[in-house]
Amino acid sequence: MIKKLIPDYYYKSIYDIPLEELYKKGIRLILTDLDNTLISYGKTDPSEELFEFKKKILDLGFEFILVSNSRKKRVDHFAELYQIPYVKFSTKPLKRGILKAIKKVAKGEYKRDEILLLGDQLMTDVLGGKRCKIQVCLIEPIDKRTDILSTRINRGIESFFLRRIKKKRKEEYDLYLKEFAGEKDD
Ligand SMILES: [Mg+2]
Repeated sequence: MIKKLIPDYYYKSIYDIPLEELYKKGIRLILTDLDNTLISYGKTDPSEELFEFKKKILDLGFEFILVSNSRKKRVDHFAELYQIPYVKFSTKPLKRGILKAIKKVAKGEYKRDEILLLGDQLMTDVLGGKRCKIQVCLIEPIDKRTDILSTRINRGIESFFLRRIKKKRKEEYDLYLKEFAGEKDD
């Protein structure tokens, strides 16, 4: 279980992701979480910067799909404005929604090692992605204060596992999770 909670990459924000590098490494499909990954729970519309981020992704030749656990109208609203194909109520960390994005929503056919999921939660995004055997890039949540109740509960579980990973897999913890856990570099 612990192994499935360790991401392949960690960046403070989606804007720090080296997209060209990922393309060179063979990533072709980028799946992304919505809340606190692209926008905070308090926002409904994509910013100009976010539109540029999408343009860069598409210009580089990736396919880009939104995979959100939320079942709210807000997801439809956002996806329509942002013009991105999407799966809502995706039930991460269950495999269902992620597999739907890969097998039904994606236009291309991709091997699992060509797919990367972006997300801000260990218990949903990282675990869900790893269970589907795809790569995961963990992002620091945009604004934790806007987390909804279910996410707050997940964050509690997340802290518990962060401590366990620190104990059992120190090297990977230091590489991918230390900063996410709010620890400063020595
Ligand atoms: Mg999220």
